[in-house]
Amino acid sequence: MSAANPATQYDSFQTLENAALALDADDPLAGFRDQFLIPAQADGSPQIYLCGNSLGLQPRRTRAALLAELDDWRDLGVEAHFRGQHPWLEYHRYVQQPLAEVAGALPNEVVAMNTLTSNLHLLMVSFYRPSTDRPAVLIEKNAFPSDRYAVESQIRFHGFDPAQCLIELEADQADGSVSLSAIERAFAEHGGRIALLLWPGVQYLTGQRFDLRELARLAHAAGARVGFDLAHAIGNVPVELHDADADFAVWCSYKYLNAGPGAVAGCFVHERHARADLPRFAGWWGHDQETRFQMRPRFVPMAGAEGWQLSNPAIFALAPLRASLEIFHAAGLARLRQKSIRLTAYLAELIATRLAALIDIRTPADPESRGCQLSLRVKGPRAEGRALFDFLGAHGIVGDWREPDVLRVAPTPLYNRASDCLRLVRVIEQFMALSLPAHG
Ligand SMILES: *Cc1c(COP(=O)(O)O)cnc(C)c1O
Repeated sequence: MSAANPATQYDSFQTLENAALALDADDPLAGFRDQFLIPAQADGSPQIYLCGNSLGLQPRRTRAALLAELDDWRDLGVEAHFRGQHPWLEYHRYVQQPLAEVAGALPNEVVAMNTLTSNLHLLMVSFYRPSTDRPAVLIEKNAFPSDRYAVESQIRFHGFDPAQCLIELEADQADGSVSLSAIERAFAEHGGRIALLLWPGVQYLTGQRFDLRELARLAHAAGARVGFDLAHAIGNVPVELHDADADFAVWCSYKYLNAGPGAVAGCFVHERHARADLPRFAGWWGHDQETRFQMRPRFVPMAGAEGWQLSNPAIFALAPLRASLEIFHAAGLARLRQKSIRLTAYLAELIATRLAALIDIRTPADPESRGCQLSLRVKGPRAEGRALFDFLGAHGIVGDWREPDVLRVAPTPLYNRASDCLRLVRVIEQFMALSLPAHG
């Protein structure tokens, strides 16, 4: 099933239905759905949950993983640091290898810690070093607000003026996406002033996926550092951070990684910086572990990403991450991506053939330029979009709404099926029949 298929492929009820059945029957990852707890609708049937881009669902195994830590705390007290089922002293290490797998990194390039925005600040302390000649940060226009706030406040913290030093690149494509040549032009224009390119792996509003390797190449050629925000990319698309040659990256774990609300986030620091003498905000958990408990005054960082840790890890927030990464390891990112491409192409074709009178897809059509999420824009006034969003909710379909006018739906390969996509489209057809009889 490719996006290049003619848009008339799903013109009858029978072919629509059959295509969903065929896709789901031919899905080697179908069994993973049972490893998740899917919230129920009022009538007891499972929701059509298409919101893994915002909060991934709870894996069944998470409860036991969390209770095991509560039990160790109950039974062992402080001794659980050394004698627990998963001794707490080394807890962040249990997720290092599987995190490296989803990040396309070496194990010592990644660490699970803090939250996305705090990691962004910590890594900007090390990798955004503005000077009078080179004070600027290049980000995308319509960046996620937290990223923009973080960057703006860092610029001010260094005594510079965001009005001069925050460059926000406008989308140059009709569908709201940003071409690589627009980024190239920005470097041609401002290159010598840009200290840092901070860019998403997948843009949260449009769902556009970027070529990290090309971005890093452009930034480095212009003498800038490059950091990636992978909030919507990690666990969704392959990111290959090491080979892409990113300087750093940050992500959260509650979206596609399914580690639960406020779960411990992650970050990446490229191996070439592992022992670099970079300025950083330090804490005792980043200190060389061999001598950490000698409690000496001089800070000696661990080599690699672990050297950016501040505090001893939040075990109750890491336990769900450990549990959920086991599922990613078992499913394999390459197989997940294959399924994801099929699912999203199916949904995109359904929308194009059945719903074009009401809906524009704002996410690039090329599967290489998107992950699983499709950003939908309802034609007409904003109220029409909100009405559709409410109608979907009333029919057990969970997506999310982002102002001003975007309805996001994300069929995730771990727990969604083609039949979920079909159900979404059927319910939107009902909405159209009610609200747009002329197009019904
Ligand atoms: C989800 C998301 C965040 C959230 O930040 P937290 O620090 O986890 O609250 C930040 N940036 C982007 C791009 C996001 O998608």
